[in-house]
Amino acid sequence: MDNLQIIGHFIGGHVVDTAGKRYADVFNPALGEPCARVTLASVDEVNAAVFAASAAFPAWSATPPLARARILFKYLQLCQQHTDEFAALITREHGKTFSDAQGEVARGIEVVEFACGIPQMLKGEFTDQIARGIDAWSMRQPLGVVAGITPFNFPVMVPMWMFPVAIACGNTFVLKPSERDPSPSLLHARLLKEAGLPDGVFNVVQGDKTAVDALLDNREVQAISFVGSTPIAEYIYARGSANGKRVQALGGAKNHMVVMPDADMEMAVDALIGAAYGSAGERCMAISVAVAIGDAGDKLVASLAERTARLKIADGMSEGAEMGPVVTQAARQRIERLIGEGVEQGATLVVDGRNYKVEGRENGFFIGGTLFDHVLPSMSIYQEEIFGPVLCVVRLPDVGSAVELINANEYGNGVAVFTRDGGVAREFVRQIQVGMVGVNVPLPVPMAFNSFGGWKRSMFGDHHAYGPEGVRFYTRHKAVMQRWPNTASAGVEFAFPQMK
Ligand code: NAD
Repeated sequence: MDNLQIIGHFIGGHVVDTAGKRYADVFNPALGEPCARVTLASVDEVNAAVFAASAAFPAWSATPPLARARILFKYLQLCQQHTDEFAALITREHGKTFSDAQGEVARGIEVVEFACGIPQMLKGEFTDQIARGIDAWSMRQPLGVVAGITPFNFPVMVPMWMFPVAIACGNTFVLKPSERDPSPSLLHARLLKEAGLPDGVFNVVQGDKTAVDALLDNREVQAISFVGSTPIAEYIYARGSANGKRVQALGGAKNHMVVMPDADMEMAVDALIGAAYGSAGERCMAISVAVAIGDAGDKLVASLAERTARLKIADGMSEGAEMGPVVTQAARQRIERLIGEGVEQGATLVVDGRNYKVEGRENGFFIGGTLFDHVLPSMSIYQEEIFGPVLCVVRLPDVGSAVELINANEYGNGVAVFTRDGGVAREFVRQIQVGMVGVNVPLPVPMAFNSFGGWKRSMFGDHHAYGPEGVRFYTRHKAVMQRWPNTASAGVEFAFPQMK
């Protein structure tokens, strides 16, 4: 073995060294070479993490909500102090630009801010005297051990959609981060411990399918939150539910942005460039299809072509970089294959990002911004989630056909419409079968106190992530009726209870 840093698990309050077991290389995508090696958990290691979480649950769930929140307040402060450390880890292992990574951390921190106020949301309802001498109330209780399985594309923020809410509600947590960029999860663990979180409340198991399946099959795990691609989301939902767990599984996307002829074209082009190529298109809310209505098409494509060709593509740590590399060599090959298919199937390749080289970073996994025009719904570049810096322009005659196209798509994560016509926007919002909608906003990612989730095959399960839906997901509702008799019993009743 060489001297690469080994990224381990965090179980019961300690980093666990598992030297000599299974590993995967973690790459710096800008350099195209390994920067660390991550341990891949065995079933026993996953079960040990669940055991630690289970042992911590009785005391943590009995801790007053305000005391739990105070630990999160300290963690919030530590996250703010360590933003750049988080961001540098993201850029090193994911490849996105440092400023984009700082933005990711900021959006994650917002969920911690929300979680600090969760005691307010754990209040139940109370009805005095629902029957003579009887009061009723409801309360929300934590589930127990809950697990989070997260994707590579937001290694700090997506776990933060989950564990701050789960922990604030009184659950204990096992995180299984992506094996592509595992380091930030250990920084979360370190800062939570520093903030005073008791050992075992937050655990990390690094790993692959073996670890995921062990979580899905462990009887102690009460709920699974998953974010990743649609085929795996569907698998997690099916296997987790079959094992009696509560599951929320957020999947992939194909997000459209409709540009009406009356739209502010400069604003629409700025929005498309940022939303299609930011983070090299590796965002579940990235816009990958621009739907140009009527004569919007020619103006839009001309401006996009010019802007796409001069994107500043570089190592994410370098000053002024607008776009970094994609995450792995395999991702680059898959994206370049899809670009080839687009050409073969007859789309017009306006800007070709294949074989892109960055000086001094010749081995990095870079792809240039790529733009297709005249894309048809039958083409694989339209049907597949490319998850790379590839924007497809589809031309349609009117907004009605755009709504029809989008509603027929299997995904329903995000969508946007750019127009100056309030009536068109209003009807669009009402008719569109998508979970998150932007009007002149390209990436309508809900804030922490709202909830995040797509429709159709972009999400399996009932509760969206974070915000009030997250609190409902991580708690069970209990209804209580109470009588303190001060008279003798009225005797046995065999009829169904009614108010008297
Ligand atoms: P992925 O589905 O490959 O991996 C997600 C997680 O599942 C990882 O932790 C991985 O280790 C695990 N996993 C992978 N293969 C598995 C298998 N066969 N069995 C069990 N577990 C498995 O996704 P990714 O490539 O890391 O992330 C990109 C995808 O995530 C895109 O499709 C993107 O749209 C989606 N995503 C969705 C959202 C959303 O909110 N809907 C947010 C971010 C990312």
